[in-house]
Amino acid sequence: MSPLVLSDYSTDEDGEQTFTTPSSFSSSSSFSSGSAVLHRSLKVDPLKVIAASGINLQLSNGQEILDATGGAAVSCLGHGSQRVQKAIMAQMDIGVSYCHSMFFSTTASEGLAEELIASTNGQMAKAFIVGSGSESMEAALKLSRQYYLELKPPQLKRDKFISRHESYHGITLGALAAGGHKARRGPFEPLLAKITSQVSACNSYRGMKDGETEGQYVERLRAELDAEFVRVDPKTVCAFIAEPVVGAALGCVTSPPGYFKAMKSVCEKYGALLIFDEVMCGMGRTGTIHAWQQEGVVPDIQTIGKGLGGGYAPIAGLLINHRVVDVLRTGTGSFAHGQTYQGHPVSCAAALEVQRIIREEDLMNNVKKMGQKLEKLLRDQLGEHPNVGDIRGRGLFWGIEFVQEKALRQPFDPKEQIAWRIQEKGLQPPYSISLYSGTGTADGKSGDHILLAPAYNVTASEIEIIVDRTKRVIQDYFDTWV
Ligand code: PLP
Repeated sequence: MSPLVLSDYSTDEDGEQTFTTPSSFSSSSSFSSGSAVLHRSLKVDPLKVIAASGINLQLSNGQEILDATGGAAVSCLGHGSQRVQKAIMAQMDIGVSYCHSMFFSTTASEGLAEELIASTNGQMAKAFIVGSGSESMEAALKLSRQYYLELKPPQLKRDKFISRHESYHGITLGALAAGGHKARRGPFEPLLAKITSQVSACNSYRGMKDGETEGQYVERLRAELDAEFVRVDPKTVCAFIAEPVVGAALGCVTSPPGYFKAMKSVCEKYGALLIFDEVMCGMGRTGTIHAWQQEGVVPDIQTIGKGLGGGYAPIAGLLINHRVVDVLRTGTGSFAHGQTYQGHPVSCAAALEVQRIIREEDLMNNVKKMGQKLEKLLRDQLGEHPNVGDIRGRGLFWGIEFVQEKALRQPFDPKEQIAWRIQEKGLQPPYSISLYSGTGTADGKSGDHILLAPAYNVTASEIEIIVDRTKRVIQDYFDTWV
């Protein structure tokens, strides 16, 4: 998802599509964009970053922005890592700037794949490296289908997926079709393959019924998934797709204990694969390299991105378990999918160094420690605010959901773009903080939220500043909200 959720289509209850435009994008804006870049807005140029260091961004207007979200949960080491810069230069010095991964391998891509497989304690067998999270989801969909074509005997009818409402798995047509993000699907719905259906998101704050225990909630969602398999015909389902911690679509929503085990049991019952989308929540963001390592559930295929290269290079990928690899190995012996820049050596060298730094500097420990501090400060300083409905997350991945009426958990009308406006206000002095906003759904199943995802090497004093500025921008916004 692009870092700035500036404007969105939304589908109202009658299925009518509307396009809402935030105030800063209105035609009355004071200037129109003269940039040659096609930015999200054709009316207003985004702020221009001319330098960066650590978690600070220097703008062309002289302002310094504290990046509390690492862009879109990407910059996991902050900016200016000498080690990563040297690793990129070393790869260039070797002279291997590119070679086609269909015919050649490189030390960089082999090294990165080994590092990634080792991080799964051997639970995964192979890594497949691409350039973006959306590409990785495209590859995951095709790999799942190919798995069933090559099973002995083949299961040719498997061509469907089940995902969850309020989910986002990428912006390209296949990945968009896999997700349940109504607003993002909206304008492109007619172009999307009818390959998925959705079950309820697991969102305790909005999904649990009064008096229901977490165990009962999990059981209700398990039964819903089971019923969905039966409805679409279990013999046609390739995989269930879910984010272990839901990032941009819901704002750092974790699941009650046992939820993913229950979901996996349904997949196993019907012989379907389990795909975890860890593009946003993975690669250390929640305190373990892989988010599934805290769920006691190993996926069959896992997408990774963002923190993989920490923003030093465009890179993402798949981790694939033995079950899937073995079927291809004894089948056609190849994955019928490939892209020109797959396994790009410079990107792989950058990502490998990012991953080595995370491991050698024990940054998972810092994620856990600073995550606890972030959670405590957010709860202490914002927990009682009348418009803060929920604070949730894990590691250095925290979401704040806004409500009109706290006791009733009444969300704001998405058309008001509350979270976007808070994000926009945060970028202005005196706050000068970059937050990441997400808009709720018109049916009230999710509310407006902002997300915090600082770098893994963030310091205690930076956490204090992040919370202080976040609190002030939220307080000031609602003090003047009418
Ligand atoms: N999956 C999830 C969970 C994401 O959050 C995103 C991006 O925000 C993607 C997939 C798509 O990744 P990319 O924007 O790199 O294509």
